[in-house]
Amino acid sequence: MLSAERACNKAKRRAALNATEKILSMACESELIQRYFLTKPQRADVVVGIGDDGAVVRPPPQQDLVASVDTLNEGVHFSSRTDPAAIGHKALAVNLSDLAAMGAEPAWATLALTLPAPDEAWLEGFSQGLLRLADQFKVNLVGGDLTRGPLSITLQVIGLVPHGMAICRKGARAGELIFVTGTVGDAGLGLAATQNARELAPRNLDYCLFRLDKPAPRIAAGLALRGIAGAAIDISDGLSTDLGRILDASGVGASIELAGIPLSAAARAVFDNEVDWNLVLNAGDDYELLFTVPAAGVDTLKRQLVWLDCPVSHIGYIEQRAGLRYTKQGVTHALEVSTGYDHFAAS
Ligand code: ADP
Ligand code: MG
Repeated sequence: MLSAERACNKAKRRAALNATEKILSMACESELIQRYFLTKPQRADVVVGIGDDGAVVRPPPQQDLVASVDTLNEGVHFSSRTDPAAIGHKALAVNLSDLAAMGAEPAWATLALTLPAPDEAWLEGFSQGLLRLADQFKVNLVGGDLTRGPLSITLQVIGLVPHGMAICRKGARAGELIFVTGTVGDAGLGLAATQNARELAPRNLDYCLFRLDKPAPRIAAGLALRGIAGAAIDISDGLSTDLGRILDASGVGASIELAGIPLSAAARAVFDNEVDWNLVLNAGDDYELLFTVPAAGVDTLKRQLVWLDCPVSHIGYIEQRAGLRYTKQGVTHALEVSTGYDHFAAS
């Protein structure tokens, strides 16, 4: 046999082998998808869900689509010790929180999952955490991708908002009041505890870790803000950073009153008499909504949020003068806006 012919046969055998491996891995891949991610579509607007080359969804008339995508990487957004159910929950929760900040009602999601190995115990926990939250908010997982590589989760959500009603960062105007839902700093305390930077009593630790691992997206509050809020953002990178983003986008400044910033009972117990404002203002991961409302809308806002049982606190005012200032015990200081976590910052 000529050496060229031998090489050709070898290449053919390799190709046949690769094809078999591919089929085997494809069978395995589709089995995993079926086992862990195939749910019956509950939404009538899902025309074609998981199983085809693409999902087909049918948005109602007069609605804008709001899309948001986030990636969670092992070692950056969670550690190898994080409970897979918490990872599944958080992957969806952080995206839903973005929709909440836009005033959108979540509808559909897609998931690109990269796994080092087909670890079924991990997939079981992860998919349960994700699908339970999806169920809670009537979101249908309509497609995705499954590949092998370092653990990484990319989740996209698409939501609906009546035409022209999405709430943006650029809508804040001087004179508007600044509000925040819930409490801030809890997730930051939880993170500090996991990094051994703080010691928390067991009860406070449980609460702060719950806030860090299982954020509850403020969807209902976001919907209530339609037509009321001038601008909104969710607190993912820290109150000062995220407020700074509203100010930048809107071309305004702001003053906040530290005494107005809502702290949980756990955070107050941890801080005792000495609140760590640096942590409260700069820690991320709280996924509360931060938004502005013109004075004329405040009564409606309060009525709506009381009805939803959503706590809301007035923390300051939007001002014409650029920059962010804070008042502590009647004295006003300039607040350096932290830039938040930068994945590409020079190390
Ligand atoms: P294709 O090769 O045509 O992209 P795949 O074999 O990757 O199709 O996926 C088959 C079906 O399963 C598609 O409908 C896809 O959207 C869905 N799917 C794949 N991975 C996931 C996942 N992790 N979660 C949900 N659906 C998935
Ligand atoms: Mg694919």
